[in-house]
Amino acid sequence: MSDFCKIYAMDIERRASLLGLLELKTDDHKVAEVLHRVILDKQSDKIVDDFYDYLLQHNEYALLLEPDLIPALKQAQAAYVRSFGVDFDSSDYFDYRLRIGLAHKRVGLTLGLYQCAYRQLQQLMLNEIPENFMQDGVNGRDLCCFIHKITTLDMALAIETYHDALVMDIQDELDNVYFEKAALRERVQTDSLTGLFTRDYGLAILKKLLIRGEVENDICLILLDIDFFKLVNDTYGHLAGDEVLRQIGKLLNSAVRDFDTVCRFGGEEFMIVLRHTTKNVAMKVAERIRQSISENIVQFDGKDIQVTISQGVAVAQSESDSMVLLNKADAALYEAKAQGRNCVVMSGADVIRD
Ligand code: GH3
Ligand code: MG
Ligand code: MG
Repeated sequence: MSDFCKIYAMDIERRASLLGLLELKTDDHKVAEVLHRVILDKQSDKIVDDFYDYLLQHNEYALLLEPDLIPALKQAQAAYVRSFGVDFDSSDYFDYRLRIGLAHKRVGLTLGLYQCAYRQLQQLMLNEIPENFMQDGVNGRDLCCFIHKITTLDMALAIETYHDALVMDIQDELDNVYFEKAALRERVQTDSLTGLFTRDYGLAILKKLLIRGEVENDICLILLDIDFFKLVNDTYGHLAGDEVLRQIGKLLNSAVRDFDTVCRFGGEEFMIVLRHTTKNVAMKVAERIRQSISENIVQFDGKDIQVTISQGVAVAQSESDSMVLLNKADAALYEAKAQGRNCVVMSGADVIRD
């Protein structure tokens, strides 16, 4: 089987089935022989010239035809006319016709225009049959029927590839859309420095959980800010500061469960949304985080850097407004800073410190 027959699954059974539907039989080889001997071999250039006159008279085609390419296109068309219906039952014939659909699709010819042009080509061949034609037992009607069958066969094959190429184009487009969507989601959701979720995404998660009304007192919020971070930048440089942010991001992520959400809330501020968590557990988590960060040593450029953090914790009450919860956590964080930093403050309650 030739390449294109393989690609389009035009095996011997499918080819035989198509030929059967068109009632193309072995006897038709004789009709093909007479058609070529008497008409097509002699008239192919004339038919092609007339065909291109028709195409160039119509803007729909003329705009697609590059003038410099017309001589080569005419030659290819003449070769097509000379091979019209010759060995129509061979796999090479099917292969050639399948390729034609793809070539037409590539130059941007729509299927409707392709069919209209094909009808014209068929008409031009029919015009060449003399009145009362009869030779070697083949009459004009036999030639007409044969031309009609072969143009239908050729069109059916070209449409097959045409359709496939269109499906492939759509698939390409879809792949692009999915790729862009994934890239966009990644950009919207992920903070590029720490790999944590972004503030927008963290807030969206918080809102969703609150709107969903997960069991009251079940959602806790931790706002967390690095102490004297400006000093880290001033002492060790901005790149060292970036490394501290990255390492804190990792520590925070590993300190919570998969269904909790850690995001970079701002420059050196982070937000953690804890689900299914009571007030006491939230305080324990915050304290554990405070301790592990204060003990962690960030090595950068041969220097050991140690930072502490302050945290404000708030528990969702009946209020289902994320801003109310955020303000509570923020006030608690402010209080933690006021209490001397490196500590955890529960909104409206006690201070935990070293
Ligand atoms: P405080 O204990 O009151 O929080 O003091 P602070 O120095 O941490 O607070 P301040 O808001 O004065 O400084 C925050 C610093 O964080 C200032 C800013 O340059 C730094 N910062 C913000 N984003 C980044 C970043 O992406 N990389 C680095 N290296 N520094 C950042
Ligand atoms: Mg800050
Ligand atoms: Mg700070």
